[in-house]
Amino acid sequence: MTTALITHDDCYGHVTPPGHPEQVARLDAVLGALEGMDLTRVKAPLAADDDLLRVHPKSYIDMVRAAAPDTGWRSLDGDTHMSAGTLAAAYRAAGGVVRAVDLVLGGEVHNAFAAVRPPGHHAERETAMGFCFFGNVVVGARHALDHHGLSRVAIVDFDVHHGNGTQDLVEDDPRILFVSSHQWPLYPGTGAAHETGCGNIVNLPLPEGTESAGFRAAYERQVFPRIDTFKPQLLIISAGFDAHRADPLAGLELEAADFAWVTERLCDLADKHCGGRVVSSLEGGYDLEALGASAAAHVRVLEERGR
Ligand code: ZN
Repeated sequence: MTTALITHDDCYGHVTPPGHPEQVARLDAVLGALEGMDLTRVKAPLAADDDLLRVHPKSYIDMVRAAAPDTGWRSLDGDTHMSAGTLAAAYRAAGGVVRAVDLVLGGEVHNAFAAVRPPGHHAERETAMGFCFFGNVVVGARHALDHHGLSRVAIVDFDVHHGNGTQDLVEDDPRILFVSSHQWPLYPGTGAAHETGCGNIVNLPLPEGTESAGFRAAYERQVFPRIDTFKPQLLIISAGFDAHRADPLAGLELEAADFAWVTERLCDLADKHCGGRVVSSLEGGYDLEALGASAAAHVRVLEERGR
């Protein structure tokens, strides 16, 4: 049993305007940092429309498809832009998480990391925003529930921004436990502790400047016990690495070792409840060096667990 690394060259085809932080070079930074690891490399398929339709209405999917430009860019919001290759990349990103779920639940690999872009956790049911078009991790979670017949999936999001899209997509679905830790206040402005969905959402707002000790204490107190009680049959990670202290978009003060630590602890919970079944998908992370180091620390833990 190994760890799957799922990606696709189409994810390079999502080209953002010059100076945009969610840039093509991010994928090189991540994949370069994973070179030499013992991973089962898998190409991300395009998501099936049936998979997207478990998460977004057809009218929204049709709007995104129709918005795709032949050349140049079309903007769906102030910082969410489509190039000619964006549609294929967005379908690969969601499809990559679905493939990861199939591989892990099928017992073909122990766990999986989808190195895909565009990210997904800000995409709401009918709104592209914050660099995101489709709710990649929720597409994977619903596939696990509806296609594979699971009844409980936990999603943990340690990206520095609140996963408002994921929350919007799952807040009425008690089969999914969603935990998001994030700097607050910060974009997108949601993620207060009192936002609890149907009792299935845990938001951990962290003040600017929070370091390793504060981050770890919050997880020990509020995240791990909750996952333990929920007893997930699959654990999905929205792996954004922009809580790193070097990140230009936010002000938390984590180090790569903190991402290894939280991954270890989440894998422990997955070992206890679901045979170690973990699917992780790339979200943010905008300092290229910190992104590479953090993704490597995260995937190294997955790889060690898969041996
Ligand atoms: Zn982020």
